[in-house]
Amino acid sequence: MRFLTADYLFPLHKAPIKEGILQISDKGEVIALFENRNEIPQDKLEVFDGIICPGFVNAHCHLELSHLLGIAKKGKGFLDFLATVQERNNFTKEEIQIAIENAEQQMIANGIVGVGDICNTTDTLLQKRKENLQYYNFIETFQVHNDKIDDAIQSAVLLRNQFRKAKLKTTIVPHAPYSVPPKMMRKIADLIDEKDELLAIHMQETLAENELFEKKEGPFLNWLNSISASSGIWEKRNNSHDALKELDKHKILLVHNTFAKKEDMTGNYYCTCPKANLYIENSLPEYSIFDADKLCLGTDSLTSNNSLSILEELQIIKENSDFDLHTLLKIASKNGAEALGFEKLGTFEKGKIPGVNLIMGFKEVEVVD
Ligand SMILES: [Zn+2]
Repeated sequence: MRFLTADYLFPLHKAPIKEGILQISDKGEVIALFENRNEIPQDKLEVFDGIICPGFVNAHCHLELSHLLGIAKKGKGFLDFLATVQERNNFTKEEIQIAIENAEQQMIANGIVGVGDICNTTDTLLQKRKENLQYYNFIETFQVHNDKIDDAIQSAVLLRNQFRKAKLKTTIVPHAPYSVPPKMMRKIADLIDEKDELLAIHMQETLAENELFEKKEGPFLNWLNSISASSGIWEKRNNSHDALKELDKHKILLVHNTFAKKEDMTGNYYCTCPKANLYIENSLPEYSIFDADKLCLGTDSLTSNNSLSILEELQIIKENSDFDLHTLLKIASKNGAEALGFEKLGTFEKGKIPGVNLIMGFKEVEVVD
């Protein structure tokens, strides 16, 4: 049993408590919150400088790409980045496994307790079986040629089944509107069953994606034409969101949204990956357009980032938005836990086992009670 207190306690399901106290069991389960240090015998209190908040949720990662750290050149744009990811197979199984293990260790050291992770392979399965962190696995699928869609879907189902066999939360998801034709979106929607809680999709990560759907021109159109992609991808969709309609009404996490506009907003959950956006496109979303209760935070992969730290991502949002500290911490923890269905994470509500983070250096930030 421990009684933890700091300058501020941020339970996240309620307002921050100045000098509040968190009582947790030896297993990390939240037992109670106290408003006043006088309620607890002084010798039992552990007093820290800074703020205490629940463990972070990294709502978007590609753990299996961790070995590509430092290979992509910064600011070269998305198509150049895609070419770099093609190098993923030029490594040994052992190198890939070591990178995955180190990346997970880094997330743990950085106070992350839950992850929404994109998978194209079973490379991360070994590590995830250890249950060091909670994962929601998204089996990512794409295929721009209509005649090869059935094969892609079949491989995705096989992959999903392997993850589910290991009792891991797993759902088949479309990669992005520009890489998945309508026919394939409908097939993905048909695969949704009672075990699927959430879909995830990369959205509006580049200006070229908007140009493709809204104007039927630009680098993405040229690229898709050059690989003889099915024109169904852009012909009947007038913006990226038209693709979501093909998925039926389902809980979806839209990832990146770097070039999303106010009128693009839907009632879905949104995930921002600021450092990756700066790394690849040297751009950030306009944060005022989001519903702050539905905004989550992700690191993306070590291919497009130099670290897996939600706190570093938060710092970028803080510098580029009007969100107060309470809202920022909800974005870092509570919202992601809600989106990914991690019921025991995200807040200091009684009975949860959310992990405890002590943040120093945020002390000077003005806290509104
Ligand atoms: Zn991604």
